[in-house]
Amino acid sequence: MKRCPVCQAGFKDTPECRRCKSDLTDLIALENRAEYIIIQAMQHLKAGNISRARQLCNHSETLQRTEFGAALLGFLDVLAYEEKISAEDMLWQKN
Ligand SMILES: [Zn+2]
Repeated sequence: MKRCPVCQAGFKDTPECRRCKSDLTDLIALENRAEYIIIQAMQHLKAGNISRARQLCNHSETLQRTEFGAALLGFLDVLAYEEKISAEDMLWQKN
């Protein structure tokens, strides 16, 4: 969060907006949760579990949309599509 969602004042990583005094504790917690989940998604990607990585990335993006999350989700979509095509090719070759 770069700006307070209430008054748009610059944000300084404190739970209270310096200008309007809004309590941003829950939003900060949500942002931290989204970051934690996207890190989990990257660990599943590293382990080759594309499906789980996509699930987690999607979840993270529902909590907080980021350019990185959107790019990662696009990348995971391509990998999942290629994985599906490859699995279909293998089935085709068996028959
Ligand atoms: Zn504010």
